[in-house]
Amino acid sequence: MKKDGWSAEEIFSSPNSLTYNDLIILPGYIDFAPADVDLDTRLTRNLSIKRPFVSSPMDTVTEGRMAIAMALNGGIGIIHSNNTPDEQAEEVRKVKRYENGFITDPICLSPENTISDILNIKAQYGFSGIPITENGKMGSKLVGIVTNRDIDFEKDPSKKLKEVMTKDLLTAHKNISLSEANDVLRESKKGKLPIVDDKGSLVSLMSRNDLLKNREFPNASKDKNKQLLVGASISTHTESYERLDLLVKAGVNVIVIDSAQGNSLYQVEMIKYIKSKYPEIDIIAGNVVTSEQALNLIKAGADALRVGMGPGSICTTQVTMACGRSQGTAVFHVSREARKHGIPVIADGGISSTGHIAKALALGASCGMMGGLFAGTLEAPGEYYYENGMRLKKYRGMASPEAMQRGGAKRYFAEDTKIKVAQGVSGAVLDKGSIMDYLPYLTQGLRHSFQDIGVKTIKDLHEKLYSNDLRFEVRSVAAQIEGNVHDLYSYAEPKYK
Ligand code: GDP
Ligand code: GDP
Ligand code: 5GP
Repeated sequence: MKKDGWSAEEIFSSPNSLTYNDLIILPGYIDFAPADVDLDTRLTRNLSIKRPFVSSPMDTVTEGRMAIAMALNGGIGIIHSNNTPDEQAEEVRKVKRYENGFITDPICLSPENTISDILNIKAQYGFSGIPITENGKMGSKLVGIVTNRDIDFEKDPSKKLKEVMTKDLLTAHKNISLSEANDVLRESKKGKLPIVDDKGSLVSLMSRNDLLKNREFPNASKDKNKQLLVGASISTHTESYERLDLLVKAGVNVIVIDSAQGNSLYQVEMIKYIKSKYPEIDIIAGNVVTSEQALNLIKAGADALRVGMGPGSICTTQVTMACGRSQGTAVFHVSREARKHGIPVIADGGISSTGHIAKALALGASCGMMGGLFAGTLEAPGEYYYENGMRLKKYRGMASPEAMQRGGAKRYFAEDTKIKVAQGVSGAVLDKGSIMDYLPYLTQGLRHSFQDIGVKTIKDLHEKLYSNDLRFEVRSVAAQIEGNVHDLYSYAEPKYK
């Protein structure tokens, strides 16, 4: 029997540029529950995450707070670079400090410091459990610890820590494994476990709170030190060299080279520079939309590709530049090429519902990158405001006139010109509540979608795609109208799509 529908290969052999809404995926056979769907995926050549969600490096989308929430829920956030290198590195540091196994660089003080020093640390970093060493530095002899309970009833902030610190300490030896140290923490019921060497000098610290975070967020994206994964964007300019050094020092796990048209000499050189200086850091290169562009960046050493030129919700590139590609076509062609080299693809822009993420994955992407979808959440930078009774947050393109004034033009090779041609707009999006509620919703939505398609994993989905077993059809305009809510007098827009 001839199969219904068409393979992606057949559909994308036509001269038409197609996108998510043009396509529909034909259902498969269900013999499992949504809970059996495993959304583990590859972000780059060497990094895997448990959910295919990435937040955009945009100044109205991803700073530390968003990146923490993304990583706790199994995705990853990419910190934007429309700020100074120090500011960007500080956002990376916030993410890396949030959760730990062994904290190898805990903030320490000496017995001569005062309670007000602890209060300052608490105000800046949010924690107050401070090991006290002889000279106030790591590697010196541990003499005590001060935690909130030692100081919360103290009235005199100038009191020295030697008067309030706990001296009778439970410690562990530096050869202890992480899980053994966790057992000690659990059994001791203490909040902190300092780790020391043979001479009693401080080597690292453990916090009970991290055990709780680990239990609450079992799918969190973490590195080998149990710190949350985080990415950061840089431009292709040589001024990014300094930025890169600071980001690496702050512990960044992956670098996104942020360029609207990634197939350039500048990007190829930047990839080679990063690879020679920091071979352990994975690079997400882009943006690209054709196989030829993709191949150039893969040959230069890219560890993942970011796909999209013009599909973004705030984007005017295709109108202004007459250049780009519809996102469905772009994702299919680039992913097919990248697969030959074992490189994953991130579908960037134009995703405005769970279904769009499912379609991006079905066309070969390993992750979706979202800007507008996340911009209205509590964790996105910026304050809420009201307009016409609606609670809104600002969302702007990085090539909007407003963002370019702050440096966003670097992405578009437009920073030297006097006349700046905008490729994006500034706007607003509706309040979406916390991303801590939204990401579980997207996850569950995707699981249902996979169940309908009849696949349990992203790997299986891709195998079905390339064996031509995954079947699609192109929807007419009438079919798209039919596929949406229609013919109602009124209805309540769902909070999430
Ligand atoms: P505290 O009791 O006020 O110190 O704070 P918690 O134990 O509730 O939380 C401390 C959190 O900050 C944990 O998740 C730690 O992993 C993290 N953290 C990161 N760097 C440091 C550090 O230098 N010192 C301390 N105490 N915690 C840190
Ligand atoms: P693996 O060894 O890399 O497979 O990591 P596991 O997830 O199995 O963790 C090893 C040990 O570290 C277990 O005891 C975990 O409970 C513990 N662990 C995992 N994440 C964290 C964390 O963020 N903080 C702490 N303190 N322990 C963690
Ligand atoms: P969204 O998820 O809102 O549809 O799209 C977000 C993506 O649009 C970003 O990840 C980025 O690739 C792209 N983008 C961000 N700002 C601009 C802009 O000003 N112009 C263009 N052309 N694209 C942008």
